[in-house]
Amino acid sequence: MANRAYCSKCKFEFYAGHDHHSGSSSCLCLQCMAVFTCVTKSNWGPNFDEVVPICRTVRRKRKKKRDRDPKQVPTGTTVVACRDEESKFMIGEEISYLVYYDFESVPCPDCDSESLVAGFDEECNCPKCKVGHLTLDPIIY
Ligand SMILES: [Zn+2]
Ligand SMILES: [Zn+2]
Repeated sequence: MANRAYCSKCKFEFYAGHDHHSGSSSCLCLQCMAVFTCVTKSNWGPNFDEVVPICRTVRRKRKKKRDRDPKQVPTGTTVVACRDEESKFMIGEEISYLVYYDFESVPCPDCDSESLVAGFDEECNCPKCKVGHLTLDPIIY
């Protein structure tokens, strides 16, 4: 489920979920607060068992808030898309599963700690200021 998490106390915010327009989703390191992008082969999201490169977003110049086409530069680190066996659902005659990234034991490209996350739970502590709590707003890409 795509959502925007934001802190009640500081300016921290994070967009979770797969963006169909860019064909990617974000992940964040809780240790060094670096944000990376997982770029899938299909714009619609990762396939089961797909090895997805974790990329660094390089924006050209920050004149506008959102640059038109920021470059995604692979960091060399990858994450595997797993299917959630409990999320089984049907699309027509076919069985489908929700797919998620297994960040466990994936080191952060920047600080090497295994602290990457792809999203947050409602009301959890802000990873930045540690004082505020996060609110989640659902978003539809
Ligand atoms: Zn905060
Ligand atoms: Zn890190």
